[in-house]
Amino acid sequence: MPAPPALIPDFIRAVSAVIRDNAEEVTALDQAIGDGDHVTNLQRGLDALGGLAAGLAAMDWSAALQKIGMSLMSSVGGASGSLYGTLFLAMSKSLKDKEMNVAALSEAFAQGVEAMKLRGKAGLGEKTMLDVLIPVAHALREAAAAASPLPQVLDMIERVAAAGAESTRDLVATKGRASFLGERAKGCLDPGARTSQLMIGAIARVLREQ
Ligand code: ADP
Ligand code: MG
Repeated sequence: MPAPPALIPDFIRAVSAVIRDNAEEVTALDQAIGDGDHVTNLQRGLDALGGLAAGLAAMDWSAALQKIGMSLMSSVGGASGSLYGTLFLAMSKSLKDKEMNVAALSEAFAQGVEAMKLRGKAGLGEKTMLDVLIPVAHALREAAAAASPLPQVLDMIERVAAAGAESTRDLVATKGRASFLGERAKGCLDPGARTSQLMIGAIARVLREQ
């Protein structure tokens, strides 16, 4: 990914917009199988990042991702805050002294998702955001190994993220608040998986328009 940190303000704007535009749907999902605060949790984090955007754009990727991770940890709250914080801090570590490209990004994202799995003690098929993030990490790795061109990588990521979010519909949750519902969580998308998909889509669109 030949994206400079100068794009970070565009990413933050696009991600904030897609969460705002889909707030009603996501809140309904989190009201159905969680506690209804997922959108406001994310918006708190995105507002904090919005305030940091200009500074982040002037940093290198590793430093910017560290700052993003720490900001999310302290601003978001909820399960999603510590999980996304963990993702960005691990990505920062992986990208230290490295140049940003598809290979470095795929390695960093894979490390980040591994760190989230440890942090939340969860894996694939537990009806969480990991049902989007794990398949996207795998797909990114394959794309990097195959040296796929960026437009193809972006299309593929969006497809995999959409399939991952949809896969949560018929799952029973074994982690997070939805796990208290047992079979009753079936038939409802996981809100965190849906927002992961939406945010990945927003980032892909910014990169495509580059
Ligand atoms: P909370 O559940 O604390 O209210 P949010 O509403 O912000 O936090 O986020 C809920 C989302 O977090 C869920 O929809 C799910 O995707 C994700 N989640 C919850 N627990 C875990 C976990 N252990 N591992 C990964 N994701 C999780
Ligand atoms: Mg919640």
